[in-house]
Amino acid sequence: MSTTTMPRRGTKMQARRRAELLALRSSVGAEWADRMSHGMPSAKLLRELSILEHALTERWPHMSTRWLTDWILADAGRIHGGPEARMPGCRYCASAQR
Ligand SMILES: [Zn+2]
Repeated sequence: MSTTTMPRRGTKMQARRRAELLALRSSVGAEWADRMSHGMPSAKLLRELSILEHALTERWPHMSTRWLTDWILADAGRIHGGPEARMPGCRYCASAQR
């Protein structure tokens, strides 16, 4: 086995793992913000978020600053409220409209 193919394969797997973790962080973050917006318990999701964020920033520390900014903006931008709130993709808004 050549030593030149191993790092490349490892890099590809790392990139896929990173994309998976980022996608998961994004969906858990959105669910957390939606639950928060509707006054529902969200501590479990917050714990899940901190585990995911720790896994990402520990493995790719050079991305930490950018990711942390992205996550704060994404979560803050998704917080919504009031009786007329209609956040696209929020299942709690959707069920309130029925
Ligand atoms: Zn909502």
